[in-house]
This record gives sequence, C-alpha cells and structure tokens, in this order.
Amino acid sequence: MKHLKPPLADYILELAGLLNLGAWTITISPLPPNDPDSLAEVRVTSGQQCASLRISGALINSDPVEQRSCILHELIHIHLWPLGEVVEHAFPALGTAAASILEAAHDLANERATDALSLAIAPFFPLPTK
Ligand SMILES: [Zn+2]
Repeated sequence: MKHLKPPLADYILELAGLLNLGAWTITISPLPPNDPDSLAEVRVTSGQQCASLRISGALINSDPVEQRSCILHELIHIHLWPLGEVVEHAFPALGTAAASILEAAHDLANERATDALSLAIAPFFPLPTK
C-alpha cells in the first residue's frame, strides 16, 4: 500500500530546516486541528525534539502567502514551547485562580510574540510551490 504524503509536508520540512529545526522530527498528522477555527496546530513532545503539526483543509486551500505565514507561526511555536513548560511547572505552586491567570497571560503573550516574529521574517522565506 502506498502512503500519500500530506499536503505541504515538503514545504513544512523545508521551512523547519531554515528555522534551525533540522534536528527535529516533525510529523504532519492526518488529523485536523482540535480547534475547528485554527488553520493549524502544533504539539511538542517534551524533551524529545519531536513535534506534530495538524493542518486544516482551509490552510491547504489558502494562498501561498497565508500558508507561509501560518506554517512559520506554528514552527516558531516549537522554539518557544519550553517557555510554556516553565509556566506549567509553576502551576502546582499556585492556586487555581493564579494558575489560570498566568496561563492566560502566557498564552496571549506567546501568540503575540509568535505572530510578530512570523510576520517579520516571512518575507525572507520562500513561498510554497504547488
Ligand atoms: Zn499560535
């Protein structure tokens, strides 16, 4: 049986290499993102340099500029992932309310930083070719 390569797989790995993630094992899940409103999602396996991307049909059908921006965004999340783990390690020492506030503040700051970085560097990265 022949395995079909997920859409954008070669391009995702090309960008990963350019972002100094070449030593990582990055897989593209056949599943869509958990959040139906997300174009893509990434999950990192802690301490193993393994990440899994889920890409939506909307991303596959979007224009190349959007694809580049979104994939860069998800790949930058891999570099910033340990910061989220630091926040999670603090949860046991916090009350539920404080942990919730810290998590929300981190998530917002993380998304803003990831968006800013991906937008700033996108013009220096190749676009996907179909
Ligand atoms: Zn994000």
